[in-house]
This record gives sequence, C-alpha cells and structure tokens, in this order.
Amino acid sequence: MAFPCFDEPAFKARFSIKIRREPKHLALSNMPIVKTVNITSWLVEDHFDTSVKMSTYLVAFIVSDFKSVSKITSHGIKISVYTVPDKINQAVYALDAAVKLLDFYEDYFSIPYPLPKQDLAAIPDFQSGAMENWGLTTYRESALLYDPEKSSASSKLWTTMIIAHELAHQWFGNLVTMEWWNDLWLNEGFAKFMEFVSVSITHPELRVEDYFLGKCLDAMEVDALNSSHPVSTPVEDPAQILEMFDDVSYEKGSCILNMLRDYMTADVFKAGLVQYLQKYSYQNTKNEDLWNSMTNICPTVDTDENELQGDNFCRRNQLSSSSAHWTKRETLDVRAMMNTWTLQKGFPLVTVTVRGKNVHLQQEHYMKGVDSPSSTEYLWHIPLTYITSKSDTVQRFLMTTKTDVLILPEEVEWIKFNVGMNGYYIVHYEDDGWDHLISLLKENHTVISSNDRASLINNVFQLVRIRKLSISKAFDLTLYLKHETHIMPVFQGMNELIPIYKLMERRDMDDTANQLKEYIVNLFKDLIDKQSWNDEGSVSERMLKHSLLLFACVRGYQPCVDKAQEYFMKWQKSNGTLSLPTDVKTAVYAIGAQTSEGWDFLFSKYRLHSFNLEKHKIELALSLSRNNDKLQWLMDQGLHGDIIKTQDLPHIILFVARSPSGYHLAWTFLKKNWEELVEKFELGSRSIADIITGVTNQYSTRLQLAEVKEFFNSLEEKSSQLRCVQQAIETIEDNIQWMDRNFEKVKKWLQNKKL
Ligand SMILES: [Zn+2]
Repeated sequence: MAFPCFDEPAFKARFSIKIRREPKHLALSNMPIVKTVNITSWLVEDHFDTSVKMSTYLVAFIVSDFKSVSKITSHGIKISVYTVPDKINQAVYALDAAVKLLDFYEDYFSIPYPLPKQDLAAIPDFQSGAMENWGLTTYRESALLYDPEKSSASSKLWTTMIIAHELAHQWFGNLVTMEWWNDLWLNEGFAKFMEFVSVSITHPELRVEDYFLGKCLDAMEVDALNSSHPVSTPVEDPAQILEMFDDVSYEKGSCILNMLRDYMTADVFKAGLVQYLQKYSYQNTKNEDLWNSMTNICPTVDTDENELQGDNFCRRNQLSSSSAHWTKRETLDVRAMMNTWTLQKGFPLVTVTVRGKNVHLQQEHYMKGVDSPSSTEYLWHIPLTYITSKSDTVQRFLMTTKTDVLILPEEVEWIKFNVGMNGYYIVHYEDDGWDHLISLLKENHTVISSNDRASLINNVFQLVRIRKLSISKAFDLTLYLKHETHIMPVFQGMNELIPIYKLMERRDMDDTANQLKEYIVNLFKDLIDKQSWNDEGSVSERMLKHSLLLFACVRGYQPCVDKAQEYFMKWQKSNGTLSLPTDVKTAVYAIGAQTSEGWDFLFSKYRLHSFNLEKHKIELALSLSRNNDKLQWLMDQGLHGDIIKTQDLPHIILFVARSPSGYHLAWTFLKKNWEELVEKFELGSRSIADIITGVTNQYSTRLQLAEVKEFFNSLEEKSSQLRCVQQAIETIEDNIQWMDRNFEKVKKWLQNKKL
C-alpha cells in the first residue's frame, strides 16, 4: 500500500528510499541515511543508501520520536535499539543480546551480515510478535524491552529467543528466500530452529534446549487433526498465505530440522546449511534445494574408503562414528527421508512389541478421532533412537518400511524409544511395555532424562485418545509426578491433566472436576510448598515457581491463597508502591482480583502502567474474576482499543474463555463481534485462529458442536472454510468422544485412588 510494487518473494530488487519528515522527528529504514536535505523550514528529506537485492516484504520505514542506544559488534556492525523515549532504559538487555547473537550468526553461517547496521525497534501497538525487515527488525514492546527489576524470568527467555529468531531471518529468509509462500517453513521453521541453536550457545544459562520439546508437542496437537496440512502446501490467495503462519510451518518445521540434525550429527548438518546459504545467496529456493545441499555435503559411503571425496571433516565423520549411522551399508538419502516429513501431513505412531531379544516395530499414521479414516498409504522414514535398561548409549535405526525387526544384544527389562523426544513421532509399547516404564518412573525416575519423562507423559495421553490405552493406565503413570521436580515433566503433567477438569467444569460435572483438581494439587503439593516467594533461582526454576503458584492460588490451595492475600493487602496499602517479587506477582494479583474492590484497584493501576509485561499480568488477573459484568467490560474495552490496546484483545478473549465463568461470554462475544474482529485482525491471521480455537477447545457436548457449526456455516465461505474452523470442529468432536469413553473411568479412578 505504501508504493506500487510486486509484493511476491521471488521478485527481488534494490530499493532506494527517500522520506520527508518534520525536523523534530527521525526516520529509519533498512539502510543508513547518506544525506539529509532541507526542503522547507519545516520539512526535511532523508536519503537512504540503496538496499541490497531483496524481496519487497522486507522493506521497512519508521518516522518517530524514538530514542536509541547503540553498540558495535566485533564484526563491526552498528546495532541500535529504538523505543519510545521513556522506555529507553529497558533497551539495554536487547542491545547486548543482539550484539552477541549477530556475532554468533556471522561466525556460524560463515557469511558476513551484508549491511552496515541493524536496528531493532519496539513498536507500541503491533499485531505481530516481530518482523524481520532487513536491517530494521520490529518488535512488540513486550518482545524486545526488558526491565531487570520488573520483568519475570520467562520474559528474559522469550525476549532473547525472539531477537534470535529475527536475526536468524537476516540469513534464512532475507538472504535466501523461499520462492513462494507454500515453502514458508523454509523461513520460519529455520528461524525457529536457529533460536535454539544460537541461544543455547550465546546464553547457556537460559537452558533454552530444555524447552524445545514443548514446541514439538504444540505442533503435534494440531498436526494430529485431519485438518492439518503438509509443511509444504500449495497456497494462492492472501488468506491462505496468512494461514501458513501456523504451528505447522514454525514449530513442526523446526522439529523436523532438529530431528534431521540429531540424525546427521550437528557438524554435518551445519555444513549442509552453510552450503545452502552460500549457494543461494540473494536468490530464492524450494524445499528440494535444501535437501540437495544436505545430500551433497558428504559423499554417501557405499564406496571404498580411498575413493571418498570431500574434506577431512567429512571423512572423519564417516569413519569414526559407529554410533552415528554413517555406516557402510546405509546410504543417507536426505531428500527421500525429509520428503516423507514435509510433503505428508501428520506424524507416525510407532508400535513396539518386545519378544525376547527381538523388537518388532510397526508404523502408522497417528490421527485423532475414531471416525477419521486412517490412511494406510502414509509411510515415513523414521530415524529411530532408543535406550534400554541395559544401555544408556543412544542406539539408532532408520525405519523406512511399515514393519521391521530390531535384534538386541541381550534381553532387557525396558526399552525407551525416541530418546529426548528429538524425533517427531510418538511411541506405543505393546503388552507390558508401558507397565515396565511406569514402574521405572515410580521406582527411579531419574534413570531417564527429564525430556524422556515429559515425552512419556505426553505419549501415554495421546494413546488414550486413539484407544490404544485406557485412561486409568495414563493416570497410573501420573502418580510418579509426586516426586518430580523438573520443569518440563511438571508442565507436561499439568498440560495433560488440567484440560481434563476444564472439560468437566464446562459441563457442570463439578464433583469430579473438584476431585481432579484436588488430585493435581496433591500431586504437586510438596513442590508448591517448597517454592520461595522471591525471585531467586535459575530461569527454569523461576518459571516453574511462577506457574505452580499461579495454579495453586487459582485452584484455591489455602496456604497459597493466604499468602497471596497477605501480599495483595500490603501492596494495596502501599498504593501499589511496594515492590512485589516478579515471579509471584501474577498469583498475588489473581487472588486480589477476586474481590470487586481488589479488581477495581488493580484496574486503576493498569491504567497508569506503561510497562507492558506488568499490564499483561494484570490483564490475566482481571480476567480471572467471577463477575461476568467485569469480564464483558474487559473484552469490550479491548475491542475499543483505547484503555486496552487492540493488540491485547486476542489474549484477553482467551483469558476470559479459559476462566470457569467466562467461556459463554467469550463465545457470545466472538459471534457478536465477528465482523469487527476480522476487520481488525484479518481473515486467516494467527490472531483470528487463536481466538476461534481458544474459545471453543474446551467444548465437549453435541449441543455446543452444533452451535459452533451453525455459526460458522452462516458466514460467507471464506470464513467457514478457514482451517482453524475445521480444527475447532474436529477438536470438539474429539472431546465429545473422549468424555463419552473416559469420564466414568476417571471418576472411578479418582474415587479409588488414595495419593
Ligand atoms: Zn519468523
């Protein structure tokens, strides 16, 4: 809209930009200013240097009164962070992180960053999380600004990762661009994946690698539905293109890259990436260009040793690594393998049956919902990994057929596949396979890694969904959580159990819902009691504390409620000047917001606050009110966009939908304001998708299903055909079946179980 152009990724051009502005403002664009001329006494014109060759979607310019802080990287690039003037003190963390990360990428990719500068700008009201415009990346304030005094531990983690993401795009996306939006994942999957590669090295204290697993589980959640799509999918119109910016392109894309890296080894994988980026600099690519770069990196090894081509590192890799699959019999066909992951939707379920030393394997397409026809033609090349009770050395096996057999050197008590869940598949253990793993968790859970434990918790509940296991087996497994202290398994346990009582709450099955809540609180009681109400500890300890205390307080665990009330009263008495520990704030606010007076006081503080993350915490607390008028008012204000910013409306709606008294309101609000929401957030956008799925994903009755179907059918085709609408409908259908089959069993299990 700013200028006539062909806005398609494959049309690359050099851009010369001139901007007229008032002298009191400053202008920014992709390149530095080369000169400024006076046009009149009240108008000046900035001339920016000509850009490198790039796609139109990367052009950016800003006219503002922002302030900035700057540093020079060790490679001589000037980095600046721009914000509104009164937040400039919160820009320091981002500046240091960006300097470290840009230096890292220049070294890692062995390709210099081609521009003389990189500006990072915090935009006060911004729909996306961030945008990777070449040389001028833009962010939500909450994604870029960090206040060491006020920000919570998780915000440090997310800020660092988002900067890492946008800077990775300067190579993946900007330098080498997908030819068309069907391969969006080449941009986004890579940028997501590089977040973890770069931050784990530049900021090891954040332990970012611990959280990678969560991305893959999120992706599998939508990828298990029939409405999912292959990573690489044909798209044409703007709404379809927008819809590509989803968990499949980002999260699944990054997970299958991680799986490939784990399979090829980090060094070989990196060499392939570098070759790809160098070969296609300033050009456009398709899926297969990437796989060809990976395949040619080291010659395949079905030849004699002395015929091997390539550099020393390739030869070393091929000869040394018996643990890593470059065995002589195995030809690595990256393209054939990765095509099974990018051109097919969904993911495989691997069923393992142990008979003595023989391990029988079978793969099939995992799909939620019994009525979905499970397609038999799906086949993946699965890089399997496993450990056993006899050996914690990771063994590897590439499964390329429907069924296969592995022979172990000796009989084992248990076997665990998908080590660390680096692979994008789930595993079912036939016969007493699960029983052995459940005993292992009960007796000595630390024998396997925390990510292995989290993956078992995830897989067992996934198997219940498709009737491979009973719900009581899954609940039996959760009993071990009483002794769990690590963040990922604790989060995964909560992620599986909490939605179950939410389904019940929405159907007035309060007795069982309450019993289940009590069970969960009991599971984590020791861990909750151990939490200190201060900001000490590592990032993951602090994040765990934040979630546990919020959960405990909202679920009415009395010791937590008492303490939070005490804090809230002190804070209120000080008129909000008392500084609360950042990681317990949300819990304190949530309890405070339960009274009408507390809610009003919190809201008065919300209006005064300029600090975004603080506002976010208050928004969550306000949405936990049981007062429907207040909840309605919150959503109305978000739509208004005055006191509550428009960018915050989608998560306000989700917060309200999640609260026990608000889910009706959220659905009514969605229906009533549909036109306006679409106008604000665009059809096909992530925001619209989040609202639709978030509002409906805890519905589980046929009546609710009919209501949702009826509403979307009444809309024009463009809306009713949205993928997120299909996802919502499938999820409700799945919930209905789940409740039909499992509710009574859960009830019985809870009655019989004494923790
Ligand atoms: Zn991105």
